[in-house]
Amino acid sequence: MSGTDRFPSYADLHRHLDGSLRLETLRELADEIGLRVPEQLYFYRGMGLQEALDRFATTLAVMQTPAAVRRVAAEVCEDAAREGVTTLELRFAPQLHRGAPLEAIIEAAADGVDGRAGLLLCGLYGEPPSVLEALVEAGRRNPAVVGIDLAGGPQTGDQFGMESYRPAFRRAAEQGLGLTIHAGEGRPADEIRRALEVGATRIGHGTSLLDDPELVEEVIRREIVIEACPTSNVQTGAIARFEDHPLVEWLTLGVCACLNTDNTLFSQVDSRGEHERARQLEGMSDERFRQLVENGHRGAFRR
Ligand SMILES: [Zn+2]
Repeated sequence: MSGTDRFPSYADLHRHLDGSLRLETLRELADEIGLRVPEQLYFYRGMGLQEALDRFATTLAVMQTPAAVRRVAAEVCEDAAREGVTTLELRFAPQLHRGAPLEAIIEAAADGVDGRAGLLLCGLYGEPPSVLEALVEAGRRNPAVVGIDLAGGPQTGDQFGMESYRPAFRRAAEQGLGLTIHAGEGRPADEIRRALEVGATRIGHGTSLLDDPELVEEVIRREIVIEACPTSNVQTGAIARFEDHPLVEWLTLGVCACLNTDNTLFSQVDSRGEHERARQLEGMSDERFRQLVENGHRGAFRR
């Protein structure tokens, strides 16, 4: 990063499209459909994952049409570029945008990003496997799509679990699509292990990783990329404080961790700010920070 130490170019591999709208865009789109933006919009410390997930109802409501998806995708790319992000992946669940068929929604996002970001299509924990299969099929046909994700969180009583999606994940891999899974987000490390077993090569969050030393070894040996999102983790209650995030320890052990925003709107963060905060963590040497940034660039999915 010679000459770029003050303004390094960042990677953000974990940014949800429907959590990263500009506030003014959310307001404008909400006006168009006569929706009131709730006063309690932002995430807050310790709110819990479920309440955080519920916040997406508002942003999804205004992003039902291809035009809205295209606009938000384009603006998120502009915002990320302004933050110094040069490697960007945006993820969303096209099946939740019902204003057009799946393919048209994906195409709208692809139009919006216009080569500036790779797209990840998110299946959601608990959904029937057929939804994941449809995403893989649609993703296969759109070159802007670089990977598949499993997002949200498992609920008690879910009929389908991570293993139910194994055939869809296998098909994704056969098609050259990457696989990342939201796992160990304040849930036991066993979930990370299972995510690796069904084919994930990247893990979203993974805050409980260090609870299982054997798993840590496997993650290091296989160069599994862990997408850290510390501010989001404080808000969902996975960790108590930003300073408690295991990021520095991961890097010290040799875990391929990268730093991400998750949701710039809801979490009121941007990539530069998150990196600046991480830079101040105790034990974050120049070398570890350089590695953190490089892990993000190297971890991007490519087709
Ligand atoms: Zn996420």
